[in-house]
Amino acid sequence: MNKFLEFVHGIADTATTYFSVMSLKDVIDILLVGVVLYLVFKFIRDRRAGKLIVGILILAVANFVCNMFELSALGYVLELVFENGILAVVILFQPELRSILEAVGGEPIKSIKRGINMDQNKESTATLRTINEICDAVVDMAKTKTGALIVIERDVKLGDIAKSGEPVDAHITKHLIKNIFFKNSPLHDGAMVIRNNRVGAAGCLLPLSENLDIIRDLGTRHRAAIGMSEKSDAVVIIVSEETGNISVAVNGDITRNYVYATLSNYLKKMLIGEDQKGKKTSHSKSKGKKKKSIEDSSESGI
Ligand code: ATP
Ligand code: MG
Repeated sequence: MNKFLEFVHGIADTATTYFSVMSLKDVIDILLVGVVLYLVFKFIRDRRAGKLIVGILILAVANFVCNMFELSALGYVLELVFENGILAVVILFQPELRSILEAVGGEPIKSIKRGINMDQNKESTATLRTINEICDAVVDMAKTKTGALIVIERDVKLGDIAKSGEPVDAHITKHLIKNIFFKNSPLHDGAMVIRNNRVGAAGCLLPLSENLDIIRDLGTRHRAAIGMSEKSDAVVIIVSEETGNISVAVNGDITRNYVYATLSNYLKKMLIGEDQKGKKTSHSKSKGKKKKSIEDSSESGI
């Protein structure tokens, strides 16, 4: 207990000394650290890496307690875990780490772009056209029970995924989308990647989700869509060949039973930041309370 009180007094003394000599540079330094931590935590909050961060924090607290009470055996084990764990974390969570770096790099550029309003209206018009073409095609394919998997790239670039298929790089039209997914067409298997309002590639291979909570009646097309949405911020649309059901996977969650209006509204919300009343809203809508793994789009009010 004495040790703990000494430690608290130590912190209080250091803080008093530090605040009395703190310069403007130090304040900016601390603010920048705060911004970096905020961006990292904001990004990982709804992702698989969130659990990892909790694990690391628990280990860090254990290490701190260990040092304070000089528990050498436990300290040795924790040291080993930290030394080898960092390499394991980098390998296991490579996609998440890449997403974090891309988001941290992408946010300031996006803010600058927004600030000077660079081509924003033009971009929104092109995205709106993309949404209309996709919705038209998806609803038609649902009626004919044509299986389809459409990945819409957002901030996380999906060059590797596009490279796993055939490059297309074409203007989006509902006929092109339907043609690609038409049964027996050479590119109907696999996923289509939409990038910069163009059909970037088709026949692409997506990573399958390893989430064991996904309900059993969802096959590999749906698992691939969920997997892609876990590893990036892409919006993934699925048309079931078996049922004609339209689903959307975002951030590792899947919502089902879309119709034209609900799909169009949801895509506008996710891609342009526009809600049903046409008001601009914040970019990622799946934040806040975590969705269930499987939801009905009509129940969720989309
Ligand atoms: P559906 O409801 O349409 O039957 P499903 O979820 O039951 O879909 P499957 O019946 O297994 O899934 O669908 C198989 C098709 O899904 C494949 O022919 C292929 O086009 C697509 N698919 C499966 N795995 C992947 C993947 N990893 N990446 C891209 N496409 C995939
Ligand atoms: Mg199936």
